Amino acid sequence: MMRTKLLVTSAFITIGALVGFSLRREATRLAIEDTSIWQSYDRYQEQGIQHLMVKHTEIQPLINKHLASGLLRSGLQGTSVQGRSINHLVAGKGKTKVLLWSQMHGDESTATMALFDIFNFLSAADENDSFRRLLMEKLELHFVPMINPDGAELWKRRNAMDIDINRDARALTTPEGRFLMKVADEIKPRFGFNLHDQNALHSVGSSSKPATISFLAPAYNHARDMNETRENAAKMIILMNRTLQKYLPDQVAKYNDAHEPRGFGDTFQKKGISTILIESGGYLNDPQKQYIRKLNFYVLLSALHAIAKEAYEQEDVERYYSIPENGRFLFNVVIRNAEIVKDSLRYRTSVGINHYTSLDATRKRLNYRGAIDELADMHDNYGYHDVDAASLLSVPGKVIAMKKDEWEKLSLKSEAALLRQGYLYIRFSDQRSPTGPVPNRLLNLINGSPLSLSIALYQNANFVLAARDGKPAYAVVNGFLIDLNKEKISSLPNTYGY
Ligand SMILES: [Zn+2]
Repeated sequence: MMRTKLLVTSAFITIGALVGFSLRREATRLAIEDTSIWQSYDRYQEQGIQHLMVKHTEIQPLINKHLASGLLRSGLQGTSVQGRSINHLVAGKGKTKVLLWSQMHGDESTATMALFDIFNFLSAADENDSFRRLLMEKLELHFVPMINPDGAELWKRRNAMDIDINRDARALTTPEGRFLMKVADEIKPRFGFNLHDQNALHSVGSSSKPATISFLAPAYNHARDMNETRENAAKMIILMNRTLQKYLPDQVAKYNDAHEPRGFGDTFQKKGISTILIESGGYLNDPQKQYIRKLNFYVLLSALHAIAKEAYEQEDVERYYSIPENGRFLFNVVIRNAEIVKDSLRYRTSVGINHYTSLDATRKRLNYRGAIDELADMHDNYGYHDVDAASLLSVPGKVIAMKKDEWEKLSLKSEAALLRQGYLYIRFSDQRSPTGPVPNRLLNLINGSPLSLSIALYQNANFVLAARDGKPAYAVVNGFLIDLNKEKISSLPNTYGY
């Protein structure tokens, strides 16, 4: 009797185990590469966020949408120095807790955009259901998007107390830092994702490739030792790097791992939270970082999937050390062998130009100012835009006079035609022209005479590179390189009024 019952029970267990096994197999076999998540990204992209300069007031209705739908639950409530809410949002009901926080530095918003895309992905219903179900069943996801809303408002790194929150993990002087620490201490996550942006001029090692994404498993001590906590973060990075290579070949690097005891990543690692720093850098022709946003979305989902499957465990931690380190060899523009005319001197050297940004009055866009940062042998440097001017002459930009209303009616095509004739400046003949950034134009405005007629160190970058017969080949306007032989010339984010 006993024996029969035992047999029957074990038969049921066997069948159950077989069914369970095959279901589980289906879910675990499905790596992110086997899904349509990358191809279907447009379906998940949050349309309420279209630009880098996302503000606290823009994310609140989106959060409310996901709270109302039941995807997200409200966790702890935080408040910034200036009284803006800091949201701790929870999704999923699994055992493994993961904490992701973004925009601790107010001017680093790429991952904030991606987190809202992830919310849309998690709340969708489509062919990727088994992937998202696995995340929601295995993980408890804790999100704190935009930890520094006061900094985001002014597009600045620090909070309203002018303290860098990522140097406040030990002193906890800022309410934003205290809040993040409280969330971490309360939920005790297994993994943490510390989501930042880095300067777009970081390169992958000494190569010409920008470090579009840089990772770090922060060190928990000055000796930069490895323990299990840090090792798991490093293993996750190996896996994420592999995922990214398909869409970002040779543009992934590793951030410097010098121990920073005031940093949140280092402090959380010390607490036993396997913490991964992700830095979003630059990518050619992606000033609004919308492609990098997609990369963030995708690689974060791949990481969450790997945690849900514990797939990181099989990685060989030694491979972490073979990811190249961040270098700093990039400029926005490099012009090689340019002709320099300085007083009675005439010589050729390479010119490095960088773009400096500032927030415009609407606080919704950035203004650029291009400056000549380097005159040197730049054999070991690279530009996002990089030309050899060895066969070209440097020519000062010409000034054309016109009435203000003529300028107002001037089409982009007419501006391009003037540029091709070597004009870089317009002077109003009937009144003074405005100074400062001039959006969506090709030519600068000028009242006096150009400050610098030629290429000069630390000066504004406005000049023409012409062929020996005098025909302009390239124009540099406010630091932007324009190929004048191209049929279509687009307007610049902004030129300048001098
Ligand atoms: Zn940062």
